[in-house]
Amino acid sequence: MEICFITKRSRRIPNAWHFRFALNLVFTAQWFRFGGSVSCKVIMYLGSCLCGEVKYKLLSEPKKASNCHCTMCQKQHGAAFATYASLPKNDLVYISGLSALAEYNSSGSIVRKFCKVCGSSMEWGGSSQYPDWVSVAIATLDSPYKPNKIIDIQTDTKVCWLNYS
Ligand SMILES: [Zn+2]
Ligand SMILES: [Zn+2]
Repeated sequence: MEICFITKRSRRIPNAWHFRFALNLVFTAQWFRFGGSVSCKVIMYLGSCLCGEVKYKLLSEPKKASNCHCTMCQKQHGAAFATYASLPKNDLVYISGLSALAEYNSSGSIVRKFCKVCGSSMEWGGSSQYPDWVSVAIATLDSPYKPNKIIDIQTDTKVCWLNYS
């Protein structure tokens, strides 16, 4: 393991360092102290679109995961709802396929980014309320991720055929 830099982002997570490993993977090591003992949690998230052209990494733990049932998310994802989790926008870093990334201004200042080769929905951002944050479509993650909590939003337009039996 090579410790090659301590980024500005390190300051967001107290006692955290970013280490760069081979293959350009970035890990965030975070140390926790529990009752006198010290343990280490390694956080690493990579994601990609369906065709593999667009690849990204996340430099911090995604927060505030939600299933959005709005009609725009339904249309864009071609699905009953879209699942997003938010993180500071500088912590979403594209590592390949930037030229394949297209964007669509769906309403107001909101920009939805997707792969123009395969159509995978990648991110939702540009909110004037939360300008420094971005939401990632977590179904595109290749790394295991389990939100602590997930909420359903915009349920007025939830489709009647979800959980149909
Ligand atoms: Zn793609
Ligand atoms: Zn939505």
